[in-house]
Amino acid sequence: MSRFQHIQVPQGETIAIRSGGAIQTPDQPIIGFIEGDGTGPDIWKASKYLFDAAVKHCYGEKRRIAWMEIFAGEKANRVCGSYMPEETLDAIREFQVAIKGPLTTPIGGGFRSLNVTLRQKLDLFACVRPVRYFKGVPSPVVNPHYVDMIIFRENTEDVYAGFELPQGSPEAQKLLQFCHTEFGWDIRPDSGVGVKPISITGSKRLIRAAIHHAIRHKRKSVTLVHKGNIMKYTEGAFMKWGYDLVREEFSEVAVGWEDCKGDPGGKILVKDTIADIFLQQILTRPKEFEVIATMNLNGDYMSDALAAQVGGIGIAPGANINYETGAAVFEATHGTAPKYANLDKVNPSSVVLSGVMMFEYIGWQEVADALVNAMTKTYTAKTVTYDFARLMKDAQELKCSEFAKAVADNL
Ligand code: NAP
Repeated sequence: MSRFQHIQVPQGETIAIRSGGAIQTPDQPIIGFIEGDGTGPDIWKASKYLFDAAVKHCYGEKRRIAWMEIFAGEKANRVCGSYMPEETLDAIREFQVAIKGPLTTPIGGGFRSLNVTLRQKLDLFACVRPVRYFKGVPSPVVNPHYVDMIIFRENTEDVYAGFELPQGSPEAQKLLQFCHTEFGWDIRPDSGVGVKPISITGSKRLIRAAIHHAIRHKRKSVTLVHKGNIMKYTEGAFMKWGYDLVREEFSEVAVGWEDCKGDPGGKILVKDTIADIFLQQILTRPKEFEVIATMNLNGDYMSDALAAQVGGIGIAPGANINYETGAAVFEATHGTAPKYANLDKVNPSSVVLSGVMMFEYIGWQEVADALVNAMTKTYTAKTVTYDFARLMKDAQELKCSEFAKAVADNL
């Protein structure tokens, strides 16, 4: 009998995470999927079709994904009576890798957001967002192809940790009084208050993941982006702990800016920049940035700003990963666009490119490469969904499912 009440475990094998984080993927790995709300079912259908086609294209019958539906969001509420059933979290813990469409945040459901809940419950501490240009995609800047970055955004702390008190509440009054008597802080009494925790643990594990990525992908630099000139003991400390980490754990392969004054001598250069200047320089000097490590709120702003730069706000991929346990959830970064639900209309690229990240993560690089090549061909041929078609001259507008078919034909 299945240990799950609603999840059907298919024939297949479990992905194993070896000590040190190495991933061992069997030929028929069980991978969880959450189809998502709103446009999610349309997008998932198109994406799954394409993933299966790409795996078959690369490996024939030798390999296939054993897809396992897991539930979250509105469908979970219908099927399991909860927006985020405990067995969904258990299934991700057990099978390690999952991919999801967008989820509606239930109003009054007792959640800040289902996405935030997933990240926090599974301690998926790194939000990873690669930002690169795909030839043919309409972009608002002159040289979008200069952008080739990957953002590692800390996912579990900062102002997102949820330590907030509403203005006028007895708790806020108590905290303000405490701050006044203990520290002499005179904060306006009619203030709402929030706490911004940034820890050594949270900072170092995130920066460690970013440096490991730079090593694996032969990137030349890692930039710590912060506002430490103003928030010295949170954002400034993040930078300092990053440089400490380089000295403690990576001195063979990386060097901090402070220690080499700009000449890394063949090692990975770990540097830092202030968040506001970073937002200027990604426009004026994008070639200078490769791997970015930053805190939760900065990372949120930067991911969207950079995605827009490559025209990809609707196609940006993402993943939430705990590099220590191996648990990883790959996801669309846009929302559920409810007005387009069940119209077979929207662009599935965000989930497809998140799938590309997933295939890279499980070591099926051939599938990732095949998908990227086929997507590029399809955009370049101007056979695209409505969102791109309206920005391109002479484009052929395709439905969501037709776009997937066009990409599959280009494999
Ligand atoms: P949204 O769903 O991202 O939609 C905003 C606009 O983005 C759409 O109207 C559409 O633009 C465009 N868009 C979104 N997905 C697209 C796709 N696949 N292809 C092409 N264009 C796409 O944002 P929202 O309306 O603010 O949020 C709706 C719901 O989604 C909310 O419940 C929110 O909580 C949730 N949400 C979930 C996630 C997630 O699960 N990761 C992320 C964000 C929001 P046009 O109207 O111009 O065509």
